[in-house]
Amino acid sequence: MDTDLAHAWLLAVASSVEADRERLTRLDAEIGDGDHGTNLHRGFTAVRAALEEIHPESVGRVLVTTGTTLISRVGGASGPLYGTVFRTAGKRLEAPECDVAELAAALSAGYEAVCALGSARVGDKTMLDALHPAVEALTAADPTGGLAAAARAAAEAARKGAEATVDLQARKGRASYLGSRSRGHLDPGAASTALVFGALADVTSG
Ligand code: ADP
Ligand code: MG
Ligand code: MG
Repeated sequence: MDTDLAHAWLLAVASSVEADRERLTRLDAEIGDGDHGTNLHRGFTAVRAALEEIHPESVGRVLVTTGTTLISRVGGASGPLYGTVFRTAGKRLEAPECDVAELAAALSAGYEAVCALGSARVGDKTMLDALHPAVEALTAADPTGGLAAAARAAAEAARKGAEATVDLQARKGRASYLGSRSRGHLDPGAASTALVFGALADVTSG
């Protein structure tokens, strides 16, 4: 991945979030406070502006700029959480380009950081249930297979992970207030994480 591709990735996330804003908000209305789409749309609109203004010059700087912007512009829990994923990953990528293994290791560090920040783990019905399998798929990808194939596997893993949150009972975030009534609904943060990796698959396939 080079800087241009990282930039394209985040712009594609912004477009997906914009297109799916109402679905994300609807999912959050079912088990939360109905603002996830609005929160992320505000955040990624600011990310788009920040990337255009700052023109970061490495993959890492693109991700750090994204994370910092999300932390400062998103009011909900998802801002600091997503912000931490991107900032932590970005800080580990200083060279202008990175390969699949380096991207996987950086995102894995981002995953660990968000687990620590939110004191949640896989199975708690959060974004982690999509992020973890996506990072695992990237880590397991054949390094000679290229980024596009790895990104496709990660996107598929995130999508399946998100889907599997339907059967889970929430143990973190607002949805946990519902107890067992949180079952039967897709977690909005896991759904948006699937969009993040879907966007990665899209921009790397061309
Ligand atoms: P808020 O809950 O503050 O309104 P959002 O609606 O934007 O924020 O984001 C909600 C999403 O954040 C949830 O669907 C869940 O995926 C994620 N989330 C909430 N708490 C945690 C946590 N402690 N760890 C990881 N993810 C979390
Ligand atoms: Mg919410
Ligand atoms: Mg909220």
